[in-house]
Amino acid sequence: MTGAATDTSLLVVTALRSEYAALAGRVPGARLARCGMGPENVAGWLDAHAADGSDGAPSAVVVAGVAGGLDPALRPGDVVVASEVRGRHGRAVLRGGAPLVAELRALGLRVHHGPMLTLDRVVGGTDEREQLAATGAVAVDMESADVVHAFARPGLPVAVVRVVVDTAAVPLMRVATLRNGAKALGVLRRTGPALARWAALAGSREVVLAGPRSFCAGVERAIDIVEMALQRFPHPVYVRRQIVHNAHVVRDLETRGAVFVDELDEVPDETTVVFSAHGVAPAVRAEADRRALNVIDATCPLVAKVHAEARRFTGRGDTVVLIGHDGHDETEGTLGEVPGRIQLVESPADVAQVQADDPGRVSFLMQTTLAVDDAADTVAALRQRFPLIESSATDDICYATTNRQQAVRAIAGDTDLVIVLGSPNSSNSLRLVEVARRAGTTAHLADDATQIRPEWLEGRPRIGITAGASAPPHLVDEVVGMLQALGPVAVTERVHTVEEITFTLPKGVSQ
Ligand code: SF4
Repeated sequence: MTGAATDTSLLVVTALRSEYAALAGRVPGARLARCGMGPENVAGWLDAHAADGSDGAPSAVVVAGVAGGLDPALRPGDVVVASEVRGRHGRAVLRGGAPLVAELRALGLRVHHGPMLTLDRVVGGTDEREQLAATGAVAVDMESADVVHAFARPGLPVAVVRVVVDTAAVPLMRVATLRNGAKALGVLRRTGPALARWAALAGSREVVLAGPRSFCAGVERAIDIVEMALQRFPHPVYVRRQIVHNAHVVRDLETRGAVFVDELDEVPDETTVVFSAHGVAPAVRAEADRRALNVIDATCPLVAKVHAEARRFTGRGDTVVLIGHDGHDETEGTLGEVPGRIQLVESPADVAQVQADDPGRVSFLMQTTLAVDDAADTVAALRQRFPLIESSATDDICYATTNRQQAVRAIAGDTDLVIVLGSPNSSNSLRLVEVARRAGTTAHLADDATQIRPEWLEGRPRIGITAGASAPPHLVDEVVGMLQALGPVAVTERVHTVEEITFTLPKGVSQ
């Protein structure tokens, strides 16, 4: 149970007798209803029973049943959790259903999160499905939008969960429909306990936003560079590695014409390629020159600074140690600056392995996105072993990493849970989770609201939210919106530092 929920009576609305039977006894504590198929039956059911509250006001509502697939990616038996419903009353956004996505995926189901269309007829033909899919709707049914419209009121969580029976590839035909209908109902049956768990999230919360959070100057610059390259140069524009480590940013740029590759051998000669914010080794630049590629370098200036230090320290004959994470794009680029001359250490335990010809001439560098405290431990171990060790005059861990860690530490103590928006390959996002946990709070990483598990929220009414430097700000808004759809939310922001840093764009795109 969350903070101030007063009632856990979930109302599950089904249309067909078979849908009702599939969920009967499967949703602990819920009241099941059958509204009948299509808008007319829904209207009659609403008049007779639900909307006037004569059956008792529910604390949450789920419309559950089967649907037709529109998105070609859908297969019979896939689950659709509606991000919004579209019908004769217009469009209603359903932010509160997002945690159902994670909960149902945890059951091993294939779950999609997208717009659900409600029509007054069965859609069968391939052409019509294609036309409807072109509107962005992923699935179609005959009741959801009308039921949602009837129950739309502040503070009442409403979700729509539908299991796909037919698709364009497997249309409504007698044998296939019988088989896939049985399969869909079997899946629907499995969703029951998850619906109850989701409904128990209804309640009030406090949200504390960490400031700063989300995009840093280096990430904004890198994304701007790709966007400007897409405007200025013939498509496709290639990007070596993920421009920044965030799945949403990458997907968005892909839809606009960027093609992400791992290595330059996937890039055709004489095309445009952008190097990511994490930097590249000189060997990669040399290969691009040899291939006459039009290179635009989105390396963050603060990463470029570490590369310059690597050249300076090795150039004067030092043994150079890089504190960083093995295999990270940034570490790879820095090590490649002077191949074979820089030794990587990940933790204090690695320091004993460092080989130095002259212990009096050792220097160290750092990956820009390390956990400040962890890095300090490793630096202490290095200083103990090499008392004369040198480093750059300014910190290698960048301002954005440091600020976000301090900001999350500042809210962690006052919250029951910290949600960090970011992708699993984002070093600075992972560090924010570690910092929050070290401060004694439960903390989880999520790419977006659909990855937030109900069990994370259960019994935790004070929620801190931050986002890694590569995570778009709208992801935070969507999580706050999701919580607001589950009940009243008091939102405050605790600003640790105001960032005013910006970086100029490189010549390749700015002229
Ligand atoms: Fe640059 Fe730091 Fe942002 Fe990385 S996290 S892109 S180093 S400002």
